[in-house]
Amino acid sequence: MRVAFVTGGGRGLGRAIALALGREGMAVAVAARTLAAVEATAADVGIAGAAATLAVAVDVTERASVEAAIARTVAALGPVDVLVNNAGIAESAPFARTTPELWERHLRVNVTGPFLTARAVFGGMVERGWGRIINIASLAGLHGSPYVTAYTTSKHALVGFTRALATEAGGKGVTVNAICPGYAATDMVWNGARNVSARTGRSFEDAVATIARLNPGGRLIEPGEVADEVLRLVGDDTINGEAVVLDGSAPRRRTP
Ligand code: NDP
Repeated sequence: MRVAFVTGGGRGLGRAIALALGREGMAVAVAARTLAAVEATAADVGIAGAAATLAVAVDVTERASVEAAIARTVAALGPVDVLVNNAGIAESAPFARTTPELWERHLRVNVTGPFLTARAVFGGMVERGWGRIINIASLAGLHGSPYVTAYTTSKHALVGFTRALATEAGGKGVTVNAICPGYAATDMVWNGARNVSARTGRSFEDAVATIARLNPGGRLIEPGEVADEVLRLVGDDTINGEAVVLDGSAPRRRTP
């Protein structure tokens, strides 16, 4: 029985990923800061068919919190075989209004978080000769766009982290990959659309449609598409160090 640990599992993409891993019969730890949300997801993951579930509070920016959450998971479910670094934040601002605090927040959640969780499980994966680390990056990890310097920088760093750690994992039964979705149908986009709507006076629906058109495929990515890609990467021992693009235009693309 494989044990999975999914950060940001209480809602959005993380919830879809936890449910998909549960349907595969894994034991799944669902982790985020909001305990009520991870408890609700964990209950649904159990109903979906997980061998076992654990709801665990974690702040991925805090080393002690990450280490305690992983220790709880190992004690309750066993060593972590599949780590999905999904927790993330996205705030937009023109560069002139990008404060050091906003910048630091993005680096801490989107980069230091995955570093801390990976650091807590990587050695054990190598020792056991099997492991999967999957980082949910973004198209913003591969391309630039305006008003999101902090987010874009953090996601480029996450892709760089993926590629570097993959070279250390290579040949040891452990793979480290990133998934780079375009705009996806979650709170992150709904909040962005609400901001656009408030700033421009356009309707919420219009703002969502505009955001969707920014994806190369012209539509929002569904959480289930990201979850399906996670399952493929868990099952595939030949892909390592890749940034798989999900932009709504093709089922699966790797970066050149
Ligand atoms: P949501 O905002 O819906 O969910 C984010 C999740 O991260 C929540 O569960 C939140 O839970 C958790 N989280 C945030 N900060 C922390 C923290 N410090 N410690 C632990 N958990 C934290 O976002 P999505 O589901 O849309 O995004 C998931 C991932 O996918 C993110 O990394 C995002 O950057 C990426 N992504 C999203 C896209 C989109 O358009 N939606 C597109 C491309 C990539 P809580 O607040 O309870 O801690």
